[in-house]
Amino acid sequence: MKIALLGATGSIGTQTLDVVRSTLPQAQVQVLTGHRNIQTLAALVNEFKPKMVCVPDSAAAIKLKSLINIPCEILTGEDGLITCAAESDADIVVNALVGRVGLAPTLAAISAGKDVALANKETLVTAGSLIMNTARTNGVRITPIDSEHSAIWQCLQGNENNEIEKIILTASGGPFRTWEKDKIATVTAKDALRHPNWNMGAKITIDSATLMNKGLELIEAMWLFEKSPEQIDVVIHPQSIIHSMVQFTDGSVISQMGLPDMRLPILYALSAPKRVKTDFPRLDFLTCGSLTFEPPDMEKFPCLSLAIHAAKTGGTLPAVMNTINEWAVGEFLQDKCRFYDISKLIEQAFEAYTVKPLHSAADVIEAEEWANEFIKTRIGDYKK
Ligand code: NAD
Ligand code: MG
Repeated sequence: MKIALLGATGSIGTQTLDVVRSTLPQAQVQVLTGHRNIQTLAALVNEFKPKMVCVPDSAAAIKLKSLINIPCEILTGEDGLITCAAESDADIVVNALVGRVGLAPTLAAISAGKDVALANKETLVTAGSLIMNTARTNGVRITPIDSEHSAIWQCLQGNENNEIEKIILTASGGPFRTWEKDKIATVTAKDALRHPNWNMGAKITIDSATLMNKGLELIEAMWLFEKSPEQIDVVIHPQSIIHSMVQFTDGSVISQMGLPDMRLPILYALSAPKRVKTDFPRLDFLTCGSLTFEPPDMEKFPCLSLAIHAAKTGGTLPAVMNTINEWAVGEFLQDKCRFYDISKLIEQAFEAYTVKPLHSAADVIEAEEWANEFIKTRIGDYKK
């Protein structure tokens, strides 16, 4: 197996390399990309000896060159990411980039006939129809790394997609699940970054705290499994042991369980339908305690209902939501806006925006440009 890993220095990226080290010794890492953390990227380049590397700009390229001891092609910027996705010898591209920057490389990889192991959920949120159609046309496989989608996919093995009655997406509920709304209104980025079960990158950790992450995942599931939003339920399951479930037309429910450990879905995305032996910690039912379930509180977490609205509306609305959310989360992470400003800004954008059908990448770009212009008009309102 030859792997191109985009976003190698992040949470999913480094865990992908852990999986390669511990369970896939034959795999060759052909591509590694990084953004801010050039030191870490350099260490990974020296260890895995990829043929192609991508960094944000020429200054980062010069720094990287001074830190590595192997010859490799160093590319830069978003064009470099696209080249890394499409033009290496890899047969599978692991997209572990965060945010909207992940879309173009996914599209490039698929168009070049490469399978994609997809962690970058924003790809499917902004352009699900385009991505799935292009994948189908090119006969490539998109395998989910997101733990819920990996769970659903595992539940589907040996079953027919048209026998699904509904998908039950589980959510931990994030760090503020039991907090009162007044108290949530005053939280800081530091509070929100303390996720109870998962150790992840900053953006997805905030998305988990607002429940936007579950909304993005609902849209991701719609495209991956060809289901309508009405066929996907969200259930809060604070222990994160059941990673999601599928209810079939005969009433049977199949779930996938395991400890919260992203290495498992990463490995399955690379090896499926084969299961590779691992020494990862095992789930022990006698010590894991009770498994509990509750409905999501849309009043306290309006981002989830906004995402469901975007899912039902379709067209370019999810792309607009994704752009506004990404910007607002960035502001919140710097303590420049408050927790509920994220949902408020998305709601205001929905009111102001006229949704268009989505046929091409140009439609996505136009929607994102509209969202960026909208943000400029509201910037003053959200300074803390
Ligand atoms: P992260 O912030 O830890 O890592 C992101 C990676 O993308 C880094 O390597 C960074 O250098 C790179 N990157 C960021 N901005 C870039 C830019 N503008 N240009 C080029 N590279 C850039 O994020 P993460 O937690 O690993 O998440 C990655 C993706 O996986 C996200 O879409 C997230 O929603 C999804 N995901 C993550 C987890 C998890 O446990 N971390 C679980 C499920 C899904
Ligand atoms: Mg997930």
